[in-house]
Amino acid sequence: MRDIIIIGSGPAGFTAAIYAARAQLKPLLIASSVEIGGELMNTTEVENFPGFPEGIMGPELMTKLQEQAERFGTEVVYDDVVELELDGPVKRVKLGNGDEHEASAIIYATGSAYRKLGLPEEEVLSGHGLSWCATCDGFFFRQKTIAVVGGGDSAMEEATFLTRFADKVYVIHRRDTLKASKIMQQRAFDNEKIEFIWNAEVARLLGETAVTGVTLRDTVTGEERDLELDGLFVAIGNDPRTHLVHGKLDLTSEGTIAVDGRTSKTNIPGVFAAGDVIDPHYRQAVTAAGSGTVAALDAEHYLAALPKSPEAGTDSSVAEAEFAAVN
Ligand SMILES: Cc1cc2nc3c(=O)[nH]c(=O)nc-3n(C[C@H](O)[C@H](O)[C@H](O)COP(=O)(O)OP(=O)(O)OC[C@H]3O[C@@H](n4cnc5c(N)ncnc54)[C@H](O)[C@@H]3O)c2cc1C
Repeated sequence: MRDIIIIGSGPAGFTAAIYAARAQLKPLLIASSVEIGGELMNTTEVENFPGFPEGIMGPELMTKLQEQAERFGTEVVYDDVVELELDGPVKRVKLGNGDEHEASAIIYATGSAYRKLGLPEEEVLSGHGLSWCATCDGFFFRQKTIAVVGGGDSAMEEATFLTRFADKVYVIHRRDTLKASKIMQQRAFDNEKIEFIWNAEVARLLGETAVTGVTLRDTVTGEERDLELDGLFVAIGNDPRTHLVHGKLDLTSEGTIAVDGRTSKTNIPGVFAAGDVIDPHYRQAVTAAGSGTVAALDAEHYLAALPKSPEAGTDSSVAEAEFAAVN
């Protein structure tokens, strides 16, 4: 049985692995079979991760994080977790290939998925004028003409934020009213750089190697027209990847995994969560990495407090009680 298994290979998972490995816990990290490296694999230049003054490509940053985690003894498995048993002192993790692993502690760092438009061109143009994160990519669109797709609070927030950089920001919304709160709507309506395109959906993304525009379809008449753009931000929602822990771990009203205050502790002793899967607001590589650190330290303390005597075995409730008593 392992001390610790980390699920997820984004900045949260690999940072947790760096800390756990340096604490001699020999972590096993389950990286997934397809999305190894997490969300940053879908982007080009990352300019806001501290320590890289010239910027760094997303995939390169993730390779470096993995190398750093492996250097201290992290074992990486390229498969998906398909089932979890979290109750009790022994946590069981079942993989897609049928293998099962056991550990005293789990760090759950599966991230979240931005909702996509569902267009075939999306994959190719991601990071090339197509983005899901204004905080991350707004800076690349100085004096440009761009559009935001969506009608909720985050779309209004992204559009308003993007006017700091862009000359013009269209908001493309499939209805003629917004879902966003009144205050967020008003802020966007009052902004001279923002123009609303109502009853419209993106039918196609234009551009072979970078976004040059979109084809809009009128949701009432079905008519299509092209709109020239330098970039497109998609803000139609974000889903924390929690399906494996539904009914097991407590969730917040926003759908993220609930943790105790600033810690990574979930409602089950020995199960810790980190990164975007617990974060409805910030969702940045560096906040995910910081959150991975918190999870590794919490797991370390949890493991250190587990009874070591054979009589006590690995009873985590005893360990929790002891842990609570000394903290
Ligand atoms: C296009 C784009 C550009 C971005 N640019 C920036 C930027 O410039 N700067 C910045 O700070 N942030 C940026 N972000 C946000 C940043 O990528 C995320 O905040 C960060 O990656 C979250 O890290 P995480 O470790 O929590 O999750 P993720 O990076 O999402 O990683 C989660 C990992 O868990 C794995 N996983 C999920 N389910 C399972 C399972 N069942 N079994 C095994 N593994 C599983 C996934 O495959 C994935 O590898 C960007 C996001 C996107 C989408």
